[in-house]
Amino acid sequence: MRYSNGVGHHSASLRAKKLPGHIIATVRAFGGFTLLLTKRHKIVYASELAASIIPRNGDALAHPELLETAQEAWTSREHIARPYSLTTLGPFHEVVIQAVILEGHWVLVSLIDRTAEVQATQIRKDFVSNIGHELRTPVTSVGLIAQALHSCAGEPSSVEHFAQRLDRVAQRLESLSEGMLALAQAQENQSNHPWSRIHSSDLVDRALSQALETARSKGIKLKTKKRANAWVEGDAAALATAVENLISNAVHYSPKGSRVIIASQADEAEDTVTFSVIDQGIGIVESEQERVFERFYRTDQARSQRSGGTGLGLAIVKHTALSHGGSVSVDSHVGSGSTFSITLPIAPGNQDEETLPIASVHHNEGSNKQ
Ligand code: ADP
Repeated sequence: MRYSNGVGHHSASLRAKKLPGHIIATVRAFGGFTLLLTKRHKIVYASELAASIIPRNGDALAHPELLETAQEAWTSREHIARPYSLTTLGPFHEVVIQAVILEGHWVLVSLIDRTAEVQATQIRKDFVSNIGHELRTPVTSVGLIAQALHSCAGEPSSVEHFAQRLDRVAQRLESLSEGMLALAQAQENQSNHPWSRIHSSDLVDRALSQALETARSKGIKLKTKKRANAWVEGDAAALATAVENLISNAVHYSPKGSRVIIASQADEAEDTVTFSVIDQGIGIVESEQERVFERFYRTDQARSQRSGGTGLGLAIVKHTALSHGGSVSVDSHVGSGSTFSITLPIAPGNQDEETLPIASVHHNEGSNKQ
């Protein structure tokens, strides 16, 4: 029987022979990330997961926080459990490292992974602090407008003026609360809709029909180009809204009369399909291109707010893509335009011979009609 899991077969199996059966059974029962060390920090057993990521120096463990916890167990002879934030242990970032001495000869070191839990708590904390910050301005405005209305009662034109302002603030509060809800759902990966297969062309059509009115009102032509023939899997409504968000942004940040192109292209080698929205708008300076996907980030607060922007759209797009196993990217040049893209995995069983969904609205390639 071999008890080493990739920790230098020869030396580890030599030591494993010296390990009593019940010790081997105990350490194996832990599963997950488990190490058994000697007093000199030599690794005599490593679970498969541990063996694949621990830094070593020959047979010896070379990870400061794991060593520190193991050493503490030797010194105190007690069961140690310490929380750590790590950057040096594969996917484990927030962990509790446990160490306990076995029969006075070995120390068993194991990990409890708290990464997802800590991240979720952080997302919730950030969310609460963002809500406080972003809602303060409109909520303060409501109070001020109410005071103004009191003091100008009996002056119909002033009442009308403040009523209109109140209406705008109400709309802003509505889009903020809707955006925050959509973002929270995308981040926590909880979709309101069951997952289904959707054809890339159908996805583009749904997004186009949602964005059509905004484009029309601004005199911007929407054109489709290069339609991929690929299927993706997911929350079709959320994916269509993500593409639509990119189209709406392209429209918002482009001059009247310009053109926005929506393209989709499959990459057979990577098994992905990319949806790109290309505009001839104001563009984004390079230093801000990464940041635009952060929630509430706006390159120009005033302009964005005037156009009804909340700074949440691209964060929702990013998290929708991530929760579908995809990614987002931007390529932009100030003054000449931006290309925002969403790349999604092609659904398993994607077949060329599958027909387009009957319900899809077909837009003429290269047509300027939309
Ligand atoms: P907003 O609601 O403000 O549009 P988004 O999250 O959708 O929020 O976008 C964040 C910021 O990124 C915007 O405020 C804007 O500055 C910039 N941006 C997004 N799309 C474009 C685009 N197509 N062209 C230029 N700037 C853009």
